[in-house]
Amino acid sequence: MKKRILAYGRLNDEQLRELRRDFHVDVFTNLESADDPAFREALGEAHGLVGASLSITPALLDAAPQLEAIASISVGYDNYPVEELTRRGILLCNTPDVLTETTADTGFLLIMSAARRAVELAEFIKHGEWQTSIGAAQFGSDVHGKTLGMVGFGRIGAAIARRGALGFGMRILYSNASPKPALEDELGARRRELDELLGEADFVCVTVPLSAETERLIGAREFALMRDSAIFVNIARGKVVDEAALIAALTAGEIRAAGLDVFEREPLSQDSPLPHMANVVALPHIGSATHETRTAMAQRAVDNITRALNGQRPISLVNAAAWPRA
Ligand code: NAP
Repeated sequence: MKKRILAYGRLNDEQLRELRRDFHVDVFTNLESADDPAFREALGEAHGLVGASLSITPALLDAAPQLEAIASISVGYDNYPVEELTRRGILLCNTPDVLTETTADTGFLLIMSAARRAVELAEFIKHGEWQTSIGAAQFGSDVHGKTLGMVGFGRIGAAIARRGALGFGMRILYSNASPKPALEDELGARRRELDELLGEADFVCVTVPLSAETERLIGAREFALMRDSAIFVNIARGKVVDEAALIAALTAGEIRAAGLDVFEREPLSQDSPLPHMANVVALPHIGSATHETRTAMAQRAVDNITRALNGQRPISLVNAAAWPRA
């Protein structure tokens, strides 16, 4: 009998055909919650899950006694109980590398658009306010030659810093769990304690994963340490930042502007002041959202689940401790 996969992330027809050669695949389009009754019932027979964004809980795992592997269509895995999965011998796979450059493009888009006030000034034209030559009230600040402080210096952090150093002549500082000597050589990057970096950087860009250690890593104290001309960019996860403290810092002029792709709660409520603030560029979590990259991420998930359910080590395995299975 073919093993059963529940696919709740977007896979194209070719990818579904590929999976169906080896497996029985149930597709759940626009699945909003794991409590969906049909999904809940199908879990009882599932050997594999392919998707993103669903919060996987121990209760959900209890409903899936045959589950062998999950292929997340994301690099971040903060919505999975990794230790619990490992304890149950369930493999968790993600999609690193294939989204790094696209997400770095989005990070740089936020740096540029917040610095040059691109969204605010596009609105200015739309509202018919461009009546005379623009003046100092519409000026932004330079990006080239400035200091870029990376909080997190992994794949995406390095790719953003590479754009800054090589494309815009920026000086790179980083704060990261481990030192990165190869990147120091390549980009002239310098490691700093977080507090030091916050005081020195013109742009502070967050790319650490969300974990118990990084939740609310940037709060009122950290915003107070930043320059009042600083531009803050979050391309990682909303919960790495204390959003109320961010709003307060932007309102009080403790920092100049922010570029945000991620929020504490997503989708962002219209009640949040953030998308309505002139000095905020807010995007709806589009870091990796291009046709090319989302297709590549889905393909990596297809490859991961196919290998996992066929007894081969997946290409990108988060919980290596669950491999090989006992
Ligand atoms: P990565 O290569 O694992 O990089 C993460 C970096 O953060 C690593 O260098 C790591 O240090 C460092 N780090 C981890 N915990 C830390 C801590 N407590 N303090 C300081 N540094 C810490 O991951 P990535 O591929 O760059 O992705 C990073 C995150 O971006 C993902 O986890 C995801 O949440 C987010 N993301 C967002 C989008 C989007 O659409 N906005 C898209 C993709 C990814 P070590 O090198 O020492 O381990």
